[in-house]
Amino acid sequence: MAEKKRYGLLEMDEETKRRLDREIRREPFHRVIPEIKEILKEVRKGMPRIIDVHCHPYTKEGWRSLGKFRTHLETYLYGKKGVTPESVTAESPTDEEWVLPFRELGVACIPTAWMADTSQGLGPPYGPDPSYKSNTNDELASLRNRFPDVVIAAWGSVDPWQRQKALEEVERCYKELKLLGIKFQQGGQAFSVADKEIAYPIWDLCQDLGMPVKFHTGFTGMGSGAPGALGLKLKYTMNLIPDFDDVAADFPKLKIIFLHHAEGRDEDACLICRHKGNVYREVSGMWPEYYEINVPRMWYEMNRRQQDKYMFGSEYNLFPLDGILYQHLRKDYREGILEKLFWKNAIHILGEDLERVGVNRKEWKEKLEEV
Ligand SMILES: [Zn+2]
Repeated sequence: MAEKKRYGLLEMDEETKRRLDREIRREPFHRVIPEIKEILKEVRKGMPRIIDVHCHPYTKEGWRSLGKFRTHLETYLYGKKGVTPESVTAESPTDEEWVLPFRELGVACIPTAWMADTSQGLGPPYGPDPSYKSNTNDELASLRNRFPDVVIAAWGSVDPWQRQKALEEVERCYKELKLLGIKFQQGGQAFSVADKEIAYPIWDLCQDLGMPVKFHTGFTGMGSGAPGALGLKLKYTMNLIPDFDDVAADFPKLKIIFLHHAEGRDEDACLICRHKGNVYREVSGMWPEYYEINVPRMWYEMNRRQQDKYMFGSEYNLFPLDGILYQHLRKDYREGILEKLFWKNAIHILGEDLERVGVNRKEWKEKLEEV
């Protein structure tokens, strides 16, 4: 029998590790690998459900929120050729298929809407794009209402260029749709978080309402590798200091979650997160096996003094939920860190917000009290 080695929480031989590493990259990502489901069941014994604070319903309709960037991502991320909107639709899951991995793997999720009508739909800088269609706040609320066993809450999205209408939509997300907070992809939406005219009024309102916000940080896969990256400028997501830092300082009661790894701005993101008590982080959008190389400071901090600041996100279904979880399990986290990342930190950081939108936190709170 081949010799088994320890990788994080898992024990396996080289051959199995290599095989699983290949299999997790195989599409479709809404189909769970039975072996990984078993591994997770074993490892999670006694653990409540994992909480996924960042994923997208890129379903047969939902993928269109990325428009031409999505057809391009098929080449950039998966190396496909001859991709058309029709082929993306055909290969994307239905809503029912999309929720399956969460149910099978014991994950409660909080997916996000996508609204960039001005910049992506109508243009400029990226439109007009006939393949674009927003993933609306109503659609996200409906997803939550139809699949309450896995979709426990949802993030809204507003288009800052719509000014007054964007502010009204934030209020509607809060009062009528009961969404958890608002997510921004400043690259796709082509705006700066430090824009006093269109962005600051939104932060002001979110702070007043007590709506957390999520900002995309660092490099983005959107447009990557295409000439001119299809027009997308990295300045909107890589302007951490001073811009992101200014927002955190100017709105001290605004809960800000830095999405992804701030690749290219690893040090700045870690420093802001240390300096500003209202800034938290989430770790989706990169295979965890690359953390040490691409974002070494984040990897160091999340295992040490910033261990209470990081939450799990999957970026499913651009990435496979089972594969991402599996890679976390086989990383050498310090003791207790993975449980913080998987659910404890989300309950501490977003607990009152989850309560506001009516999430029953019993399964997690019971476990916290046991400790
Ligand atoms: Zn995302």
